[in-house]
Amino acid sequence: MRRIGVIGGTFDPIHNGHLLLARFALEAIPLDEVLFIPAADPPLKPGTYAPAAERLAMVELAVADSDDFMASRVELERLGKSYTVETLKTLHETHPDAEFFFIIGADNVAQMATWHDPEGILAQCTVVAGSRPTAPTDGDPELVAQLRFIDTPLIELSSTQIRQRLADGLPIRHMVPAAVETHIRAKGLYAASCS
Ligand code: ATP
Repeated sequence: MRRIGVIGGTFDPIHNGHLLLARFALEAIPLDEVLFIPAADPPLKPGTYAPAAERLAMVELAVADSDDFMASRVELERLGKSYTVETLKTLHETHPDAEFFFIIGADNVAQMATWHDPEGILAQCTVVAGSRPTAPTDGDPELVAQLRFIDTPLIELSSTQIRQRLADGLPIRHMVPAAVETHIRAKGLYAASCS
């Protein structure tokens, strides 16, 4: 049975923290591949800064040189809020022989109780939590007990920080893949203050 990791996010923009989390999860579990799924309309965030097409383009550029990382349009092709429980349902339909592992940063553990239908998510996949600095790991004990925790290096990077650095005219080299930086600069993304 194919073992597929899924990492969902706004990827606004994708950064090396996301890629390292996915890489270490792939090794630790281990997985055959990881799907990066940009959210169309993230339920727990007020909105996005870059348009969906640009966030997807950056994810595609970031994974282009890895055979085991793929960009997925499953949430961008669906209208409305990007609920993970629905995404997993679609993935099970399109990949009937796969087992799914939903990968999250540790900051998401405490948030789990606020997710839409966390039990429905846990029924369809193993939720895998990696490390993230400054993240509270407390959360709903019943949900936390069902998680699988993995050790990953602590990379203190966020999309918010990348957007702020761009708005401040600071370098982002080594924080995002070179192709992603080239795309951001060519399209003038995040040039205005937008964190
Ligand atoms: P923002 O700063 O805009 O809130 P973000 O950097 O948290 O964005 P998301 O796209 O919201 O990025 O994150 C997608 C997933 O990746 C989440 O599960 C999040 O916990 C995880 N993640 C993001 N950055 C890191 C990091 N540096 N280390 C580990 N996990 C991370």
